[in-house]
Amino acid sequence: MLTLEKQNRESIVRRRPTVLALPRGNFYTVPMRIRISSRISVWFFVSLAILELGALPLSAEDQIVALKAARLFDGKSRALVQNGIVIVQGDKITDVGSNITIPPDAKVIDLGDATLSPGFMDAHSHLTLDYSGDFNKRRLEEVDLNVSEQAIRATIFARATVEAGFTTVRDLGSRFVGSPEFVDVALRNSINKGAIVGPRMLVATFGIGSTGGHFDSTAGFRDMLFGHEPGYSQGIADSPEEIRKAVRFEVKNGADVIKAAVSGGVLSLADEVDTPQLTPMEMTALVDESHRLRKKVAVHCHGDQAAREAIEAGVDSIEHGSFMKPETLSLMKNKGIFLTPTLMATEWILSKLDLYPPALQAKAKAAGAARSEMFRNAVKLGVKISFGTDAAVFPHGQNAKEFALMTGLGMAPIDALKTATSNDAELLGIAAKLGTLEKGKLADIIAMPGDPIADITATERVSFVMKEGRIIRNGPATPPPPRTASQTVSTDLGADF
Ligand SMILES: [Zn+2]
Repeated sequence: MLTLEKQNRESIVRRRPTVLALPRGNFYTVPMRIRISSRISVWFFVSLAILELGALPLSAEDQIVALKAARLFDGKSRALVQNGIVIVQGDKITDVGSNITIPPDAKVIDLGDATLSPGFMDAHSHLTLDYSGDFNKRRLEEVDLNVSEQAIRATIFARATVEAGFTTVRDLGSRFVGSPEFVDVALRNSINKGAIVGPRMLVATFGIGSTGGHFDSTAGFRDMLFGHEPGYSQGIADSPEEIRKAVRFEVKNGADVIKAAVSGGVLSLADEVDTPQLTPMEMTALVDESHRLRKKVAVHCHGDQAAREAIEAGVDSIEHGSFMKPETLSLMKNKGIFLTPTLMATEWILSKLDLYPPALQAKAKAAGAARSEMFRNAVKLGVKISFGTDAAVFPHGQNAKEFALMTGLGMAPIDALKTATSNDAELLGIAAKLGTLEKGKLADIIAMPGDPIADITATERVSFVMKEGRIIRNGPATPPPPRTASQTVSTDLGADF
């Protein structure tokens, strides 16, 4: 490991000039944001100082690395391979299998009684936010805190997520009330450029929704407290034309995927949890405009009627889906639309009910009571299921707890592992490069102790993480920064569940 650490340090020294040479305005494409961009540049260097010094990713342009473990999950087969070996060169997998020949010049990393797996993916996260604490306290902090400070906190969430084995996330909505910033775009770009450590991100920018709906971050506050009603540039749109404009605006500003709220939600103050919030014509415009721009559409939806209309409009995934009836699930299966169940979100809220106002407690209980049967029906009917947690509703880095919730509701462990690897890669549109351990794919590889088929909670103890051939973690995780008694990391009013 001494050689690897030396290389790591050298790689940081080599990479830094690239970071320093970043042109200003790189994260925002419109002149009005230049002032904000310069502030973001400051975040980078602060983040670098705090975080990057402790990061020792492997620079492995030429080094051949052989990863060995007692078992291997390839992301698609229905059984584990015994005595798994993966050969990595640069950022790619060059060979994979059982008892294959290890090149003589390879650096061998023997992980022992562990299971190798493709890096996990989470198709529903909010890496820029944390609303796991007291709801009302967070709501006040939301309007108190500088968005720059909240963005720096997001770098900690990004590290916790990738160190937990999640090398890719689809980040479904980032919003700071009264603020126009695209923190998720900045976070994604900073990770891509090596300025900070985190998972590969596909980001949605602001969720799109109706006035007073789940994504209207001013709902629940006094009328006009923020001086104006939010419009398309904050994701709020009330006609097919406005929806198209919102989609175009988000893609212009860096969205990889489009997120919309088609029904009410649990953590929003001014709506019922299952009412439809977009009309069928608005949903048709949403899907048409997004697909024209080659972006997939993920919709937040608890209600059955809204789900049916969204499925008919041709969305790519239904997020949550709590109240979906078997007929709606069948329709979904026939159209090949994914369900992202986010069981962790309900689980967390129901375990901390006292942290939420009574109206939200009632909505959480109703959604929680419906979702287990819905999930069992979805598994039984063979609906495509993607792994997604709604991380931010619960603390970042606990994403893998979703696996045990899925198997607890009747999904086979091997199928649960597939949801977070090959299934998510298909939904995210990145299956050609990621999601399985196969020759030629990017080397996103993790290892967990023991056998996750025998004990699915092994997924919660990932101890080795490689992303694109660079080792992010081999052993204990980076400890979180100390928190004072008065400190929380809550940020967002536009809660998304
Ligand atoms: Zn969400």
